[in-house]
Order: sequence, then structure tokens, then C-alpha cells
Amino acid sequence: MSTFDELVAALERAQHPVFLTGAGVSTHSGIPDYRSKTGIYADQISPEELLSHENLRQHPASFYQFVKTRMYYPQAQPNLIHREIARLCQNGGRLITQNVDGLDLKAGNPHVIEFHGDLYDLYCQTCGQPVDAATYLHDFHHQADQGIIRPRIVLYGEPIDSERLRQAVMTMQLADLILIVGTSFRVYPFAQLLQDAPASAAIYAINREPIWEPGIKMIQDDALAVFKKISEVL
Ligand SMILES: [Zn+2]
Repeated sequence: MSTFDELVAALERAQHPVFLTGAGVSTHSGIPDYRSKTGIYADQISPEELLSHENLRQHPASFYQFVKTRMYYPQAQPNLIHREIARLCQNGGRLITQNVDGLDLKAGNPHVIEFHGDLYDLYCQTCGQPVDAATYLHDFHHQADQGIIRPRIVLYGEPIDSERLRQAVMTMQLADLILIVGTSFRVYPFAQLLQDAPASAAIYAINREPIWEPGIKMIQDDALAVFKKISEVL
């Protein structure tokens, strides 16, 4: 039995599959993988610096220029992977994503935890009022009070939202199958979530690059190609 056939059988049996996704899912929607060398961080200044709490605080214009031109793709649409995972999440599945592009919500996924937040969830740091993306993409100053607007995403140097972390841990504890998709799984604490899964839960991964974690059954392939096959048989 191939690993793919095993995965399909496991998905058929699972009551509470948990999907853990990353940038490799959204590259198929035209959003560059920010961790690849040809991705959006191919600049001179490191992504850690540009997307840091410190840069937002000290150089809000630099922060804004980077996120506006390199991270926002308001026209991007969910692809087959987002849609298939959304379908499986309508039948007991749960998704925890590292992606901040909002595409899983756009795909109608009813059970998604956006672990690192959402670029389209914006607020003014001075008055706390929510701001819509069109307004932010026009100007990062809040009209009402000239406060600096920011997306509610986790920046380098900032902790994960504690409520979101709690929900993610609870979700992992209920998992009877884990499927990692489109991530090399090197970002902490996201990658640590595996420690919260029951020992009985099988762990599969679909990714072009291998993942160096013990006990993972690896399908080293393009995520879109694999999900096409999943959509045909499941
Ligand atoms: Zn304001």
C-alpha cells in the first residue's frame, strides 16, 4: 500500500483529522512563499527585521511599504487545497494554519484557527478601532486620529495570542489524525503543536521538501497534485 493510499484510508476512518498548513498551500493562489529564496523575502533586509515589532514601532513607513507591496493580495482566491480542506472540516476536521492571507476563511472553512493572525484583521493602535483593508492599503494612518494602523498578525518579537494558542492546543489534543500540508514545519511554536497530539494519532505530511520530525509519514510531492487525487477518491 502506498503512503497516499494509506493516507486516504486514514482520512476515511478519522473522526477528528487536524490539518496543519503553511505557505505551500497559498502559493497555488499566486501568493509567493515567504520562506523560499525566490519568495517575497528575497531582499537585502531580512524578513525578521522587516516584519518585526521593532520595525513597526520605529519605522512604521518601512513596515507598511513591505507588507503593502509584498504581502497583500486582496484579489487572491482559494484554490483546490483550501476548498478540499474546508470540505473535510465540515465533517469533523479542524484546521490550524500558519497563513495570514485569509484564504481559508474565503474558502468557507468553518473550523480554522489562524495561528499567526490575519492580514485582513486591521486596527488602529491609538484608538483600537477596526479598519478595513481597502482603507489601510490607501494609507496606514487612521483618518480619525492619525494613529498607526496595523494588521493583527504575529510579528517577529511578538508572542502568539494566548487564546489562539489555547484553542490550537485543545484542537491537537482531540486529533485522531494529523496532516501537515505545504510547510517545512520549521516555525516555532507552530511546529511544537505536534507534542500536544495523542500518541495514537498518525501523522502524515504532504510537502515538496522533507520534514525532519520523527514518526511522520511523508508524501514528498506538490500539495495541489496530491489534493487533486484526494478530491477524486474521497
Ligand atoms: Zn485611531
